[in-house]
Amino acid sequence: MRVQVVIIGSGPSGLLLGQLLGNAGIETVILDRSSREHILSRVRAGVLEEGTAQLADKAGVGARMVAEGLPHDGFSLAFDGRDHRINLFDLTGGKRVLVYGQTELTRDLIERRQADGRLTIYEAANVTPHDFDGQTPFVTYETDGATHRIDCDFIAGCDGFHGASRKAVPEKAIRTFEKVYPFGWLGILADVPPVSDELIYANHPRGFALCSMRSHTRSRYYIQCALEEKIEDWSDDRFWDELRRRLPAHHAEAMVTGPSFEKSIAPLRSFVAEPMRFGRLLLVGDAAHIVPPTGAKGLNLAASDVHYLFSGLLEHYQERSNAGLDAYSARAVARVWKAVRFSWWMTTMMHRFADTGEFGQRIQEAELDYLVQSPAASAALAENYVGLPY
Ligand SMILES: Cc1cc2nc3c(=O)[nH]c(=O)nc-3n(C[C@H](O)[C@H](O)[C@H](O)COP(=O)(O)OP(=O)(O)OC[C@H]3O[C@@H](n4cnc5c(N)ncnc54)[C@H](O)[C@@H]3O)c2cc1C
Repeated sequence: MRVQVVIIGSGPSGLLLGQLLGNAGIETVILDRSSREHILSRVRAGVLEEGTAQLADKAGVGARMVAEGLPHDGFSLAFDGRDHRINLFDLTGGKRVLVYGQTELTRDLIERRQADGRLTIYEAANVTPHDFDGQTPFVTYETDGATHRIDCDFIAGCDGFHGASRKAVPEKAIRTFEKVYPFGWLGILADVPPVSDELIYANHPRGFALCSMRSHTRSRYYIQCALEEKIEDWSDDRFWDELRRRLPAHHAEAMVTGPSFEKSIAPLRSFVAEPMRFGRLLLVGDAAHIVPPTGAKGLNLAASDVHYLFSGLLEHYQERSNAGLDAYSARAVARVWKAVRFSWWMTTMMHRFADTGEFGQRIQEAELDYLVQSPAASAALAENYVGLPY
């Protein structure tokens, strides 16, 4: 088989890229090691920047997102027993974010791809990119014990942090940067109305908490936890009690609780691999970078990578120019580092670190106080939260 672009990974970055390329008449095959059902059962991000929503709309999957997504004009920083609202809309001259689950966006993209008759091969084992430093790259994979080969012009490595694409790059050609945080997030999903119409990011002596949502009837809540915590030690009751303790009293009292149907612990890490292009292999999204979820940048960074790569590939096929592809890595990496900085900063400001000491604690309190008192500091937070321009 031969196609123009092989996409490894059917997460949001692979699907979005595949949809944009397909709409432009550029042929793709998507290979994923997981089943369609597994991909659609993963619960992850839920806050879309305007740029991400616009890209989804451009890809032709905006209708349900616009109908069911919840536009948010602000969020709360809760500390010292009080809420401090960050008015995103006013501080950014009219920008907002859209709350729409990654799982729903993925479903919309998968269904559109299927309706358009474009090929995705699920449960493909040992997916391996080959010869991407030359002119004739190809990808091999296995299904039902048989090995297959797809020749192509380009390989888009959209296969997440643990994927095969980045691993295929010779060690000497790539540089990585990593910071692992000394805690994780314990998260639950429950069909209860959210405690507030907007997200609440709470800094409390017992640790960070986030009140988020997927809809008016489905809540997503997180608490900072030790990395050694075991999910089986956290009954729903224990989780709700701990969450309430970390919120200002009026939220704790208003909280509606109920049985959770998803509960998981996620470690927090910042990671960047540079460059993001190796000949005809281009890394996209989590394959090249990871951010801690504080600030909701992971999925949105995947989308900005897709934007840069799509425009580069379009230029290559429609205008016979490689300028966009040549600039891909530098353009994407520059935006990535700004989001990595923002996510690290927000994580550092909102979490409790065991080794901070009293001095560090006072600095954190001063920073939060400054942030909500100073219009300039609030504006800088808001500008990053709604997403820096592409
Ligand atoms: C538990 C969790 C919670 C998160 N919460 C948030 C959040 O609240 N806010 C936020 O902004 N971000 C969050 N993120 C990050 C966000 O979900 C990611 O940034 C986003 O999914 C990146 O999309 P992607 O398409 O690049 O990678 P992925 O979504 O990881 O997709 C990669 C795809 O590649 C496939 N794949 C992997 N390896 C191979 C292989 N060897 N061969 C073939 N296919 C392969 C996988 O099956 C998967 O379908 C979270 C991530 C996790 C893991």
